[in-house]
Amino acid sequence: MHDWLVVGAGFAGSVIAERIATQRGERVLVIDRRPHIAGNAYDHLDDAGLMIHRYGPHIFHTNSAAIVEYLGRFTEWRPYEHRVLAMVDGMLLPIPINLDTVNRLYGMGLDSAGMERWLEGVREPVAKIETSEDVVVSTVGRELYEKFFRGYTRKQWGLDPSELAKSVTARIPTRTNRDDRYFTDTYQQMPKAGYTAMFGRMLDHPKIEVRLGVDYRALKDRGLAARTVYTGPIDEFFDFRLGRLPYRSLRFEHVTEDREWAQPVGTVNYPQTEAYTRITEYKHLTGQVHPKTSLTYEYPMAEGDPYYPVPRPENEALFKRYEALAAATPDVWFVGRLATYRYYNMDQVVGQALATFGRIDESLGGQARHGRQSGGGVHAG
Ligand code: FAD
Ligand code: UDP
Repeated sequence: MHDWLVVGAGFAGSVIAERIATQRGERVLVIDRRPHIAGNAYDHLDDAGLMIHRYGPHIFHTNSAAIVEYLGRFTEWRPYEHRVLAMVDGMLLPIPINLDTVNRLYGMGLDSAGMERWLEGVREPVAKIETSEDVVVSTVGRELYEKFFRGYTRKQWGLDPSELAKSVTARIPTRTNRDDRYFTDTYQQMPKAGYTAMFGRMLDHPKIEVRLGVDYRALKDRGLAARTVYTGPIDEFFDFRLGRLPYRSLRFEHVTEDREWAQPVGTVNYPQTEAYTRITEYKHLTGQVHPKTSLTYEYPMAEGDPYYPVPRPENEALFKRYEALAAATPDVWFVGRLATYRYYNMDQVVGQALATFGRIDESLGGQARHGRQSGGGVHAG
C-alpha cells in the first residue's frame, strides 16, 4: 500500500512525486503507460548514438530563477539559445520576424525606426483582437501573416488561425531589432546529460516506486493508494462522459544522416511547403560532437497521442465542465498540460506542479519540513 498514486511520469507527475516523497516523507507509486519516464520530454540515444527527443524538440527556457534552482537539484546545465529559420519564398529567414527578416525578404535596408514606420503602413487595425489571425495581421499585416503564419498554423492545428484563440500565435513575438533568438527568457539552457537523466535523479528516492507500461484505467479500482495525482487527459479520467476534448497530435519521423551537419540552426520551419511543419537537428541543442546527425520531422495529425490542447473558446468551455467534475472528486489532484488542458511549456508545468504540491501540503496539515508554495493547479482534495 502506497500513500499516493501518481499517474504519469512526465514533468507534472515527477515533480509532485519528488516533493511528496522528499517533503512529506510519504510513499509514492508513480505509473506511466509508456515504457519510459520523462513524459513528452523523453530523450535517448538513437542507433547512431545521437541524443534525440522521441516526442519532438524540447528546449528549456524560463524567467523563473526558482524553477531553474529546483530542476538544478537534479541536473547540470548547458547554455543553449534556440534559433529558428523559416523557409519562405525559397529563402531561409529568421522567425520570429525581425529586422533582417523584412530586409532580406523585400531587399530593403531599413533600420529599426524604419521598420517601425514600415509596419505602421502594412499592419491592419483590428478593433478587438480575439483570434490567432487578429494578433498577426494587426502586428505585421496580411502579407507576412500569409507567408509565415497562415500555412504553418493550418498544418499544425488543422484549423485556420481565425478559428484559434489569440494565445497560440501570440507565442511568437515580432521584433524591430536583429535579435534572432526564438526565446528571450532570462534562463535558456538544456539539461547537460538530457531530460531522461534529470527525471531519473528526480525519481530516485527510497519512498518512490516507478512502474512503467501500466495504464491507470487497468488498476484504478484496485485501491492502491489513498490519494491520487492524475496528469493524463482529464476527459479520459471521466470516461469522456461530457464528450471528447480535442487534442492535436503529431507523427515524428526520426532520421539519421551520414554527414556532420544538415541545417544551419536547431529548427527550420516550413510555413508554405511540405506536409511537415518543421525539422529539428538535435546536435545544435545538445552540443554533441558526432560525424553523423539526427533530425526529427513533425507531421501534424488529428488522431494519435494527445500532445496539444487546442485553445479555442468552445474547448475551454468543455474543459470548465470537466474541471467542475474534478473539483467534486475527492482525493484526486489534476496537474499538467493534459489534465488542466493548458498549452503550457515545461517550466510552466513545473511551476504549476510546485504550486499544487504547496496546496496539497497545506490542505493535509502541512507536514512539509521546508517552505511552501500556494496557488495554481486544479485541486479536488
Ligand atoms: P506529459 O509529458 O504528457 O506527461 C503525462 C504522462 O502521463 C505521459 O507520459 C503519459 O504517458 C502518462 N499518462 C497519461 N494517461 C495515463 C494513464 N491513463 N495511465 C498511465 N499513464 C498515463 N515545452 C517547452 O518548454 N519547450 C519546448 O521546446 C517544448 N517543445 C514541445 C514540443 C512538442 C512536439 C510537444 C508536444 C510539447 C513541447 N513542449 C515544450 C511542452 C512539454 O512537452 C510539456 O509542457 C510537458 O512535457 C508537459 O508535462 P506533463 O507532465 O504535463 O505531460
Ligand atoms: N507559428 C507559425 N509559424 C511559425 C511558427 C509558429 O504560424 O513559423 C504559429 C503556429 O500556429 C504555432 C504557434 O505559432 O502552432 C506557436 O508556435 P511554437 O513554435 O511556440 O509552437 P510549439 O513549439 O509549441 O509547437
